[in-house]
Amino acid sequence: MRKFEGTRLLVATHNRGKLEEIASLLGPLGISIVSAAEMGLPEPAETETSFVGNARIKAHAAARATTLPALSDDSGICVDALGGQPGVYTADWAETPNGRDFMRAMTRTWQEIGRSGNEAPFAAQFRCTLVLAWPDGHDEVFEGAMEGQVVWPPRGALGHGYDPIFMPDGYAITCGEMEPAEKNLISHRGVAFRKLFDGCFT
Ligand code: IMP
Repeated sequence: MRKFEGTRLLVATHNRGKLEEIASLLGPLGISIVSAAEMGLPEPAETETSFVGNARIKAHAAARATTLPALSDDSGICVDALGGQPGVYTADWAETPNGRDFMRAMTRTWQEIGRSGNEAPFAAQFRCTLVLAWPDGHDEVFEGAMEGQVVWPPRGALGHGYDPIFMPDGYAITCGEMEPAEKNLISHRGVAFRKLFDGCFT
């Protein structure tokens, strides 16, 4: 496994909510972080049908463009009653002509669960794939998941994306009601980041 030796890491995301979570997870490493949005990089099309495929597109595009090691996160929510949807299309379900609307995406998720004819609890997972890519084309891949269920109505103004309708197993609150530090302890992203730290930063 290749180690990260530099002092500067590019985070290949244009998603502000994700960037804040990633910055807080990387904080203890004490390295300097710059985002793809800050560098003015274009957002590459996510044309693959897997989390790892799309994470590779984002990390390699950013590493090639900047000659810095680049870390990407491709993630989403997979609902059992929907055969794993929205999955890699999680962000797409929020797209509108005026930008992303996550209330609309959560409403669609709930409506499609209703149409599926399944009964509660509606088991789901948040999944996260991290790719750390170097400008020479090498990469390392790490994955994490968080099990839980979809609940309605949305609850909580903390967090981002689908957090208000996701209640992790063992909790009576949604991720939208959870302090960021607590979410990082159990989240798909937290799990994947701890694997990244063990693999590339120790
Ligand atoms: P992508 O990885 O940029 O394709 O987008 C993944 C989408 O999944 C994001 O837009 C979020 O809405 C959603 N998502 C990923 N992780 C989380 C999370 O921790 N909480 C809530 N939503 C998430």
